Amino acid sequence: MTKHNPNPSALAMVPFVSVDDMMNIVNTIGPAKMIAEIAEYVEADFKRWDLFDKTPRVASHSKEGVIELMPTSDGETYGFKYVNGHPANMARGFQTVTAFGLLARVDNGYPVLLSEMTILTALRTAATSAIVAKYLAPKNSKIMAMIGNGAQCEFQALAFKEVVGIDTVKLYDVDPQASAKAASNLKSTGLNVIVCDSSQDAVTGADIITTCTADKQCATILTDNMIGSGIHINAIGGDCPGKTELHKDILLRSDIFVEYPPQTRIEGEIQQLADDHAVTQMWQVMTGKAKGRTSENQITLFDSVGFATEDFSALRYIRDQLETTGHYVELDMLADPDDPRDLFGMVTRHKETKSN
Ligand code: NAD
Repeated sequence: MTKHNPNPSALAMVPFVSVDDMMNIVNTIGPAKMIAEIAEYVEADFKRWDLFDKTPRVASHSKEGVIELMPTSDGETYGFKYVNGHPANMARGFQTVTAFGLLARVDNGYPVLLSEMTILTALRTAATSAIVAKYLAPKNSKIMAMIGNGAQCEFQALAFKEVVGIDTVKLYDVDPQASAKAASNLKSTGLNVIVCDSSQDAVTGADIITTCTADKQCATILTDNMIGSGIHINAIGGDCPGKTELHKDILLRSDIFVEYPPQTRIEGEIQQLADDHAVTQMWQVMTGKAKGRTSENQITLFDSVGFATEDFSALRYIRDQLETTGHYVELDMLADPDDPRDLFGMVTRHKETKSN
């Protein structure tokens, strides 16, 4: 039987980027440069929004957290991410968020990349926050308050330095050890790092506020009196039903920007508002169909929950780095008999080969 693929065994091998490979890729390219490059991929994919299959992520909730699948396709390539969110994990010595993801060819369904995505999620979340802030934050923003100094924190700080141009980050976390860890990690990045005793102290004088806390409840990390006019809020920690970070009054004073409304209305800060509360989609801003920041006094809020296209963009970026960095192994993950109908024969012949 004729096969269309001249080299079937090569097609059946799937490049796999392990945690070790991902760390090598990040250190080869440099974390700041890599975040800026992923931001370009995220922006490019937002600009071809209509091409993508879009669905709110498929979530399985438990009292400890959530496990989610995030699928999408641009018609040529299909991708998904598996990701968890378990706020109590940190206290048990586990990561709050872990992930892995896959890209596949749409024309034959064969996977073309399997990758760790715990590190990649931090990179893509930071890249997305920063590219969105480029459209929404006040011009010449220099100071960012960073509330919540856990796993995502340093990636966010670096992204805003590289893509937006901030020079100072003011850290606050209820756990002083988290802020000390972040301050130490950010020491040699060129950022001026200030550790603060309260969130009020952190937001004073800031052009941008990033909230990045983890708590499976409606928390109030920022209250209305802390928010002056003209500020940009990058709210990334409220990303699950019943898990928000901002007081509702802040939302009512802000112009709210989102990734994909059907998902954000379930998971974002706007779950506190009426279902028809006006929001603007970032793809519209990026393609010039809607306006971003229009005045100096405007409070802009990016109600980030993380959307499947951003993971797709990040995986696309990693696939494009495989050849130049060489940091991957090939996985024998697809059963691909010479005769596609003879799966059983392939199994039994394998036994014979082994016993010879
Ligand atoms: P993490 O558990 O590593 O860190 C969270 C930090 O928040 C901890 O250091 C904790 O002490 C601190 N914190 C908790 N309550 C606080 C409070 N009231 N004030 C100040 N600090 C407080 O979590 P992480 O991996 O950094 O993720 C942070 C959040 O971002 C999580 O809720 C996660 O689900 C969310 N997240 C969102 C996206 C997105 O695309 N929007 C992507 C990744 C993670």
